[in-house]
Amino acid sequence: MKNKNFRTWLDAMELSHPLVIAGPCSAESEEQVLEIAHELKNTDATVFRAGVWKPRTRPGSFEGNGAIALPWLKKVKEQTGLLTAIEIANAHHAKLALEFDIDVLWIGARTTVNPFAVQEIADAIQDTDKIVLVKNPINPDLDLWIGAIERLHKKGVKNLGAIHRGFSSFRKSNYRNIPSWQIPIDLKSKYPTLPIINDPSHICGNRTGIFDVSQTALDLKMDGLIIETHCHPDKAWSDAKQQIKPERLVEIMNQLKVRKPRF
Ligand code: PEP
Ligand code: MN
Repeated sequence: MKNKNFRTWLDAMELSHPLVIAGPCSAESEEQVLEIAHELKNTDATVFRAGVWKPRTRPGSFEGNGAIALPWLKKVKEQTGLLTAIEIANAHHAKLALEFDIDVLWIGARTTVNPFAVQEIADAIQDTDKIVLVKNPINPDLDLWIGAIERLHKKGVKNLGAIHRGFSSFRKSNYRNIPSWQIPIDLKSKYPTLPIINDPSHICGNRTGIFDVSQTALDLKMDGLIIETHCHPDKAWSDAKQQIKPERLVEIMNQLKVRKPRF
């Protein structure tokens, strides 16, 4: 797998810092999405994330507003110039994301574990120029992660990257998902040009660990960070404990030491 396009895109942006994808766990309302996006537009964030479809562990939790949220993201782009990113979990989501011109599509941890779902998505977005990021599967299985990336690559998806969001474990831990750093390191050694974005929010499951996990990711020369950001984190409809305010994102970015060159 020789895929340098997302890498080329990253290099062409000549960012003085790692790529930052920020925004709420879930797109809750048009007002919420636009309020956060306007706060983020003058930060290091280049891409605005928001979950439109949320695969939740237990039924009865907020599962996203669905397709009605897609025009809100269009407004984010028009009003702030931020690129937009959403999670897609099936072929229907994938087609709608392309229709609404979402810039970055990511495959969530609960989908990466399912080869048929990934294949359906790969078939639906065949040959797309959009950036497609594949989160690691919830279990620590490097081959399953690579398999999902390969399915997309075989269908002509050129702008591929990976997101490291940590792994479920029975082991008691301070992390929501243990980072098992060796796994993304092994992915990088197999595919040196594949950009890897770290997701400290889902690794930590709390606000206090975000800085340290982000710094470790940069020390390992990862290419970017995806950080859940919300203007009123305590009131968030999903993942309230781990979301940070935009002003905290700015502080974190100012304090991080960036080691260059990248991977
Ligand atoms: C998310 O990014 O909000 C999310 C659900 O992540 P994950 O697939 O890593 O659990
Ligand atoms: Mn989340």
